Amino acid sequence: MTRVVCYIGIGSNRDQPMQQVERAIERLRRGEIGVLVALSPLYRSAPMGPQDQADYINAVAAIETELKPLELLEALQSIEAEQGRNRSKERRWGARTLDLDILLYGDECVDHDRLIVPHIGLTERAFVLYPLADIAPQLHLPDGRPLAALLRAVPADGLRKL
Ligand code: ATP
Ligand code: CA
Ligand code: CA
Repeated sequence: MTRVVCYIGIGSNRDQPMQQVERAIERLRRGEIGVLVALSPLYRSAPMGPQDQADYINAVAAIETELKPLELLEALQSIEAEQGRNRSKERRWGARTLDLDILLYGDECVDHDRLIVPHIGLTERAFVLYPLADIAPQLHLPDGRPLAALLRAVPADGLRKL
């Protein structure tokens, strides 16, 4: 089986966000999705979208996986559901117990109705770019752009390393 390194963005701002993120990390360490090969520090970030919600706790994990992209998405969504995520009751970018986004899946680009990789917000969101750079400073996007160049264009406003 081919193994691919994927980067997963982790976020929570509801029902004890720090514990939600720790629990998700423990879940990823168990290895059903793949081998957790790197984990960023935790960050606190100001909310994106609606401002009447709590700050987020964010991190990025690198996982070496044998799952195909859509299998990976489904596995991540079942972890979100285990931790009480219920999209039908949320507004867009509203408060959630756990958000697991596929930021990158090796060098692959995916354009599916349920999955777009690289993640659509990756290049403009400080709360994913900075933790990603902590664990993969030399990374390039599939289109060749270096992560370092993206970082220079996105200030770390509202973002604090814990
Ligand atoms: P954003 O995607 O802007 O960060 P969000 O995380 O709040 O917003 P969700 O409600 O968690 O959005 O997800 C909506 C849908 O996005 C999911 O059902 C999933 O099918 C789709 N999706 C597309 N690309 C990805 C990806 N790279 N990682 C995770 N979900 C994705
Ligand atoms: Ca998200
Ligand atoms: Ca998501």
